[in-house]
Amino acid sequence: MSNETIFSKIIRGELPCDKVYETDDVLAFRDINPAAPVHVLVIPKKPIVNVGQADEDDALLLGTLMLAAKEVARIEGLEESGFRLVVNNGAEVGQTVFHLHVHVLGGRAFSWPPG
Ligand code: ADP
Repeated sequence: MSNETIFSKIIRGELPCDKVYETDDVLAFRDINPAAPVHVLVIPKKPIVNVGQADEDDALLLGTLMLAAKEVARIEGLEESGFRLVVNNGAEVGQTVFHLHVHVLGGRAFSWPPG
């Protein structure tokens, strides 16, 4: 199965994004349809579909993704107020773009459990 998605085009610079953070391995940009005052997506440049499709070889990259999410939260000034990380895995739970992404959400109150 090809994993060409809209995020592949963003990584290649063929579609614009509002970039927040970038390294050789990850890219973070503002969600086009924000669900909170701060809503940033952190993605690996490697086209992993979701956590369920990741394997042992991706262990370091998955850790890098979490630390990038932490860095995004720092950049966005969320260290004190807290932030929520969301990773949807599969269409059944709402994943619509099949390129692994961590939602970094902050700037408002959040309830639990999520809807
Ligand atoms: P959901 O669409 O239910 O939030 P996902 O977890 O797959 O499911 O999240 C995909 C996210 O990607 C959505 O929040 C959507 O707004 C965002 N998105 C889609 N296209 C773009 C884009 N071109 N630039 C930035 N964000 C985008």
